[in-house]
Amino acid sequence: MRTIFHIDVNSAFLSWSAVQLLKDGSMLDLRTVPSAVAGDSESRRGIILAKSTPAKKYGIVTGEPKGFALQKCPQLICVPPAFSLYTKNSEEMFRILSNYSDRIEPFSIDEGFLDYTGMEQLFGSPLEGAKKIKEHIKKELGFTVNIGISSNKLLAKMAGELEKPDKIITLYPEELEVKLWPLPVEEMFMVGRRTAPRLRKMGVRTIGELARYPVTLLEKEFKSYGRMLNAYANGIDDTPVAHAEAVQEVKSIGNSTTIPYDVEEREEAYKILLSLAETVAMRLRGGGVCAREIGVVIKTTDFQVYSHQTKLFNAIDCTNAVYETAKKIFDEAWKKEPIRHLGIRAGHLCSEECIQLSILDEDWSKEKQADAAMDLIRRKYGRDTVVRSTFIGGIEPAFGGGSLKINHLRK
Ligand SMILES: [Mg+2]
Repeated sequence: MRTIFHIDVNSAFLSWSAVQLLKDGSMLDLRTVPSAVAGDSESRRGIILAKSTPAKKYGIVTGEPKGFALQKCPQLICVPPAFSLYTKNSEEMFRILSNYSDRIEPFSIDEGFLDYTGMEQLFGSPLEGAKKIKEHIKKELGFTVNIGISSNKLLAKMAGELEKPDKIITLYPEELEVKLWPLPVEEMFMVGRRTAPRLRKMGVRTIGELARYPVTLLEKEFKSYGRMLNAYANGIDDTPVAHAEAVQEVKSIGNSTTIPYDVEEREEAYKILLSLAETVAMRLRGGGVCAREIGVVIKTTDFQVYSHQTKLFNAIDCTNAVYETAKKIFDEAWKKEPIRHLGIRAGHLCSEECIQLSILDEDWSKEKQADAAMDLIRRKYGRDTVVRSTFIGGIEPAFGGGSLKINHLRK
């Protein structure tokens, strides 16, 4: 039997901002008062990206506009997001984790899996090992994590959700009936906002009821996704903990283009990125998947190649979301050398059930509708019928062969 840990930072963005403020000499620990990280925190329209445990008690939820949150809790302290700080904290946490196993798979910016199998001789029983990791992170980086322990990734992740913060929780297969099955079906991993009401309508209220529901009926309603949900409710998952590099390699959709002239202007590069984003996002939507990671590859005229990527707080499939993320990465990576080749890669793919809440703090629901309309028109009348105004006067949408790769999708 394997031993898998799921490590998850408690209120990651909020904790990381709080720790930094303390380091900078602040007397107030944001984690101890109602507080939140809100995008565009000057405006009331900014979206809550993370909140403290005291803020949770006021019913404040991630994804709601700051204005709503302030109505629930007028004394709520809001701070703006600091994405480079988050990336740094994330990297440092994964560096610590790498001391405890060589099999670590980042799942998002603030959570990942660690295969602890065989590590008992070095660090003790799973509970002892998890305690060491949790204390190590707290001591060195100043924030708390939840660690879920089980015999597979799915159950380890579900375990970590059971109670927060700063907890180590086991959810072994023999504990399912007591710990998991009584929970409402909404709590199940991969049961999204659209699926839950449909399950309820079928009379499935708890995870246990989902586990016992006839698979054939679930398949009739949800196709293969139904079979997967049933397996998950029964705690079945045998996917290995992938090495960080392998995850990016095989689970991605990308497109790139070689430019017939040297690109030296930022605006020019943006146009190419937009055209690449179009194709990549369209392929994501076509494949019914969302990306949790966007990468940009830049090749310079002197054949230097460098690539940068960003893990997203939530998965995306909108053209503009892909484009905005790619632009951000490009701005951070580009050292102003002339460019000959640009690429965008969307990785860490997952089913489109993922919540569409962007790290860039925007509501993409309107974009989604526009994207769907464009996809439809293009499929029906040919790809050139709808061209963004940005493209008029030069660069065409990049529909070239590119490198389409949809391999093993994350379940
Ligand atoms: Mg977290």
